[in-house]
Amino acid sequence: MVQNTYSLFNLAYNAIHRHRHWSTAWRKPEPASAYDVVIIGGGGHGLATAYYLAKNHGITNVAVLEKGWLGGGNTGRNTTIVRSNYYLAANARFYELSMQLWETLSQDLNFNVMYSPRGVLNLAHTPGQLGAFASRGNAMRLNGVDAELLDREQVAQRVPQLDISDQARFPIWGGLLQPRGGIARHDAVAWGYARAADALGVDIIENCEVTSMQRENGRVTAVETTRGRIQANRVGVVVAGHAGTVAGMADLRLPLESHILQAMVTEPVKPVLNTVVTSGAAHCYVNQSDKGELVMGGDLDGYNAYARRGSPAVVQDVVSSALSLFPDFSRLRLMRTWGGTVDMSMDGSPIISKTPVDNLYLNVGWCYGGFKATPGSGWVFAHTIANDEPHPLNAAFRLDRFREGRALDENGAGPVPAAH
Ligand SMILES: Cc1cc2nc3c(=O)[nH]c(=O)nc-3n(C[C@H](O)[C@H](O)[C@H](O)COP(=O)(O)OP(=O)(O)OC[C@H]3O[C@@H](n4cnc5c(N)ncnc54)[C@H](O)[C@@H]3O)c2cc1C
Repeated sequence: MVQNTYSLFNLAYNAIHRHRHWSTAWRKPEPASAYDVVIIGGGGHGLATAYYLAKNHGITNVAVLEKGWLGGGNTGRNTTIVRSNYYLAANARFYELSMQLWETLSQDLNFNVMYSPRGVLNLAHTPGQLGAFASRGNAMRLNGVDAELLDREQVAQRVPQLDISDQARFPIWGGLLQPRGGIARHDAVAWGYARAADALGVDIIENCEVTSMQRENGRVTAVETTRGRIQANRVGVVVAGHAGTVAGMADLRLPLESHILQAMVTEPVKPVLNTVVTSGAAHCYVNQSDKGELVMGGDLDGYNAYARRGSPAVVQDVVSSALSLFPDFSRLRLMRTWGGTVDMSMDGSPIISKTPVDNLYLNVGWCYGGFKATPGSGWVFAHTIANDEPHPLNAAFRLDRFREGRALDENGAGPVPAAH
């Protein structure tokens, strides 16, 4: 198959020829009977892992097995915010690798992932919170991450739609800005990685659910799927909210819970908001998509579930909080709400790790915030699988940290107090 190149010439040629000559972006191979590496889960993280296995480590006999369609999980359901505004060094350095990869990802994949560094602003609503943000900003800078502390006037100047009056339900004292943070197009990330991995020889197999794992002498030797049995030398589990179920196939119990996280969008309007705004006190965040919709999200629904729809009470809570920050948006109609099943770890940080089962590896526990980590996660997980040892940047995210009491708990980096 000849792969499409999205050059100016090709775009013009295909536009003239009514787009009849594009080839499909990735092959649809039948599963082979055996692979060097099988990745379970065709979201952004699984696809990025396959790409970097091939590109960085020369391991191309790889299959990505996806039970539905590529990006149909949380990758295609998230609110697309990317940032590396963490306080703890282990987090800051890991997420900063992703930020650096986002900056050149479109060129690397020859696919426009629409990374838009429009800035991520955490609002401070009390002097104490502003002080904590000053400390976080200093820590970020010490770790080589960009950060700017804004006072109230600077916040008003940057985001004039915010209610900064003294009567505001959430009075604004300032904020912490990460200028390089922003958004990227979620589907494009899955498609871009799939296309690039396919070009390097990776088999991407959709509609292929892993139903069990076969083990011999403490090692996984094969996975049973809805499309037959596939032997594997190494197996990576990258299934977000279904991590507990899939790890259970190898008798592993993980310190994870599956929860619903909802998001919602308004009707599209002309550009009105050029910064991602988050508020821990208001428990919500708002940004504007390139299509013009105002995208909002907030807290978990608060109960365990695999259903990808949530309760209207949470929608009401998020919208009322967002409107108290942005009263001018009250005339907009809400168009859609949806949910995703997120894999909440017990310290809010991911697990990118070897396991007690020799050739089984985990990339799970992404909680609210794994989209931003997609490139870096794939990079270090590919390293972990290829070398059977963690990359220095995911050494702190090992599974055994829970047993040894080395939790990486960083409350408050995300849009809600408990989010990371
Ligand atoms: C509403 C919402 C908003 C969010 N907003 C943000 C945000 O703004 N910024 C941010 O950084 N993060 C955000 N996140 C989190 C982010 O979406 C996830 O952490 C990230 O997308 C996880 O990617 P993944 O590839 O690990 O998982 P997924 O994209 O869920 O991929 C896992 C795949 O595994 C497949 N699978 C499951 N079981 C099997 C099986 N047995 N066999 C084969 N395949 C299987 C699933 O079908 C799925 O496609 C949000 C999440 C939600 C739900």
